[in-house]
Amino acid sequence: MNLLYEGKAKKVFRTDNENEYIVYFKDDATAFNGEKRSEVNEKGIVNNRISSLIFELLHQKGIDNHFIKMVSDREMLVKKVDIISLEVIVRNIGAGSICKRLGIEEGKKFKKSILEFSYKSDEYKDPLINEDHILVLDIANEEEIKIIKEYATKVNEVLKEFFSKVDLTLVDFKLEFGKHESKIILADEISPDTCRLWDINSNEKLDKDRFRQDLGKVIEGYKEVLNRIQK
Ligand code: UDP
Repeated sequence: MNLLYEGKAKKVFRTDNENEYIVYFKDDATAFNGEKRSEVNEKGIVNNRISSLIFELLHQKGIDNHFIKMVSDREMLVKKVDIISLEVIVRNIGAGSICKRLGIEEGKKFKKSILEFSYKSDEYKDPLINEDHILVLDIANEEEIKIIKEYATKVNEVLKEFFSKVDLTLVDFKLEFGKHESKIILADEISPDTCRLWDINSNEKLDKDRFRQDLGKVIEGYKEVLNRIQK
């Protein structure tokens, strides 16, 4: 097939239809800006399923996204988008980089959700940026920033409720957006690689922190998330 792009966890292929791409989910796991690398057997299969289920749910809730359909164990057909160079992070509970950056204790519940932007750049290691940086660097305009913030807030509301029904706490997550026919839509993936999900009762981590922190049973955590949400 016609490889367009290869990232750390996914490959993107062109298709016969110029408006559609295929996203292929790999088993590669990376953390800390690619410094830590490994393979997690079957991760691509599980993340493709989880992302597909979540994108379908978001469609039902009126949130436009690139997902069209799953086409194989590791592949989804998506609308072609030009990715906006932003990582949009939403945090409900303290974990990960914000704890190190601001001395926040892991597990602290925030009185309101926190929205952060990072500039997607391997060269500069995805630095945190604000809305002025986004405008000045021509990453997005004011109207687009407004749309992205509204999407992120709505996705948080939908996913918090969805996961809580299966006894999972949505701690934080990262979204990416793209432009399809000059309209902004949600893109990329939503999976335990890009969300922190804790068991509601035990606070057991069921996401990529199992890999980052060498907690073991990485795929078991991801499969637990899939089992709970596909019921
Ligand atoms: N995240 C991601 N890709 C990134 C950075 C972060 O998917 O390149 C997700 C991460 O899995 C977590 C949330 O965004 O759910 C917040 O991550 P954080 O800033 O704490 O970064 P990390 O701990 O990954 O360095």
